[in-house]
Order: sequence, then C-alpha cells, then structure tokens
Amino acid sequence: MSLRQALAGDLAAVVQRSQFRRRRVLESPQLPHAVIDGRSVTAFCSNDYLGLAADPRIAAAAKAGIDRYGTGAGASHLINGHVTAHHELELALAAFVRMPAALLFSTGYMANLGVVTALLGRGDAVFADRLNHASLNDAALLSRATLKRFPHNDLDALEQQLRTTKARRRLIVVDAVFSMDGDAAPVAGLLALCERYDAWLMLDDAHGFGVLGPQGRGTATQAGIRSERLIYMATLGKAAGVAGAFVAGEPELVELLIQHARTYIFTTAAPALQAHALLTSLQLIEHEEWRRSRLQDLIARLRGGLSGSTWRLLPSGTAIQPLMIGDNDAAVSLAERLAGEGLLVPAIRPPTVPQGTARLRISLSAAHTPEDVDRLVAALCAA
Ligand code: PMP
Repeated sequence: MSLRQALAGDLAAVVQRSQFRRRRVLESPQLPHAVIDGRSVTAFCSNDYLGLAADPRIAAAAKAGIDRYGTGAGASHLINGHVTAHHELELALAAFVRMPAALLFSTGYMANLGVVTALLGRGDAVFADRLNHASLNDAALLSRATLKRFPHNDLDALEQQLRTTKARRRLIVVDAVFSMDGDAAPVAGLLALCERYDAWLMLDDAHGFGVLGPQGRGTATQAGIRSERLIYMATLGKAAGVAGAFVAGEPELVELLIQHARTYIFTTAAPALQAHALLTSLQLIEHEEWRRSRLQDLIARLRGGLSGSTWRLLPSGTAIQPLMIGDNDAAVSLAERLAGEGLLVPAIRPPTVPQGTARLRISLSAAHTPEDVDRLVAALCAA
C-alpha cells in the first residue's frame, strides 16, 4: 500500500467516526462580526473574552515594538533573543498575578510541556483531572512520570490516589477553568490536599486570566490562595488578545525552568513586538473593568434566554457556555443549522471531549452586543 493510500484510509476512518474537521478562513480581524470564508457571520467561537484581539491600542503598541526592536528576536532567550520588553513583561505579569516571579513561553502548550518535564521524571507522579487540556496530558506523558487521572473535580478520589502513592515528587495539575466545560477547579481544596500530602499544584489558567479575580488577575488571586507549592500558568492569546504564555511562582521555580525547560531553551524567543503589545494589553485588562462587567451581563442574558427552553447549558459562570448535545452528528447538524443563519458556534466532539458528550461550545466576548446574544437565543429556540 502506498503512503497516500494508507493516509486516505486513516482519513476515511476519521470521517466514519464523524470526527472530520475542516478549517475556516477568517478574512477579517478577530471580532464577533467577522468575515469567514467570504461570508459575514456573528461568531461565538473565539477565546477573545475581553474583546482585545483587535484593539487598535494593542496593535499600535505592536507597531511601536517593531520600530524599536525590528520583527525577529533572532535567537533563543538564553542566547541573545531576550530583550527589554520580555524582561519588563515578566516583571509586570508577576506583579499582576501577585506571584514572586514569572517566565514567558512562546505558547501555552509549550509552557505546559516545559514545566512538567522540567520538574518531574521517572519515579514521580502527575495527578490530573480527567477533563484537563490535552497539553497537560501530553506534558505528563513526555515527562515519564506516572500519569494518574482523577474524576472531574473529585477531591475525594484524588485524595485516595495521593494517600496510596509511592511517588517521589507529586504534582497535581488542573485547568483552573475547564476549556470545554467552563466550570472551575476547586483550587483551595486542591491546595489543601497538596499541603496534606506534600504535593505541588499547577494551575492552567488559560481561561481565567484577565477574566476572573479582581482586575482580571486570575483564578489564584480570586481564590486568595498563596503558597510556595503553587505553579501558576496562563496564556496570553485568549483574554489578553495577543499570543504566548507565562508561568509564575517562586524565583527558584523560574530559575529551574530557565535551566531545564526544553520548550523554553530550544526555541527562538517570541518577537519583542509581542511582548510590547502585551504590556499595553495588561494595562487594558487591569483598567477596563467594563469589559468584565459586559461579559457577565452577556452570560446572564444567554443563560436567562435559554432557561425556559429544552436546551441544556452546562453549569458555568464563565465566558465558556457549552450547550450539551451528546451525539456527534446531532451536534454537527445543529452547528450547521446555526451557520446557515450566519451564527458560528463550533461543534466540539471527541477526542476533544469524552465520547457521548459532543456539544456546542458557545463562547462569549465583551465585544458581543446584547443583540448578538438575543439572535443566538432566538435561533436556538427555533431549532
Ligand atoms: N491550556 C488550556 C486550558 C488551553 O485551553 C489552551 C489553548 N486551547 C492551552 C493550554 C494552550 O495554549 P496556547 O494556545 O497558548 O498554546
């Protein structure tokens, strides 16, 4: 069999499972009113929760960054690609999330791989919520530590695993806000277990940073937890509207990552223009409280609008509002029906979510209007 025949067979199997995915081409800025594949649509898909991805002030800061540094970092952070803007951004991020130190990574995926592989190896164990993001599971597998998964948000089951483990180092890792469910991890309870069983807690706050906590300082600040056991990670391509990620914690943690995190060491630094843009984004996150209030109003409007209908939204107070469907084909056909009316809501299927839990992942942004939400509610009620 030729390589092409073999791959065509694999692709046919994906189609057979109703898991085939197609990319759409966004032809406009990342805004709810967008042009995609040549059509004007209202999109409920992005993670641009605060509506900052197309903000002209951030774009101006990126341009100023180009004027100052040029386009390419040209080298990794440990050679000579680490510029003033990276340095200033790390200080600003650490202060913002009220942690002692922070380290930038090029993407959240790389941050997760970097942290877990730098800290753990054979003989150690990662305790991971079943609904964690794929990058956290991949990180655990790559580290060669034992991966133990516990039922979603089940502190008793986790405690049972911790009680019996013989692992040398123990790391609990969770999405602080679950990316496909929108609910939050019980972070205070998790930290209490870390204290009791001498473990570390890694929070992936990709979906909480900028949105939750006072001035959007994130889940750890919202929960008021502080501990040298805490490793805080957040991404900068979602609410922050740019790209990249950071890890915050004790200075020794950051220093160890600089020495050992392979996804930090063996990659070209993100361009300085990105860090420059993020310095402005951070200011807007902190000072434009109206974005978080608008988002909360839209969440309440959507939930209120669907409350009397037959549709079931998962219990979520965040910008991620999943509409549970179950069957893959049913989820796709509902998404297609909405798309026919110019409303773009992605159908999320296995393997992104567990079998039998296909859903529409409605995500809201401060850039949506109340009328956008009303249109979506009306279309769903009519479907
Ligand atoms: N963690 C979580 C919980 C995420 O949702 C994502 C992005 N989908 C990532 C990590 C990866 O972040 P990035 O897109 O910056 O690679």
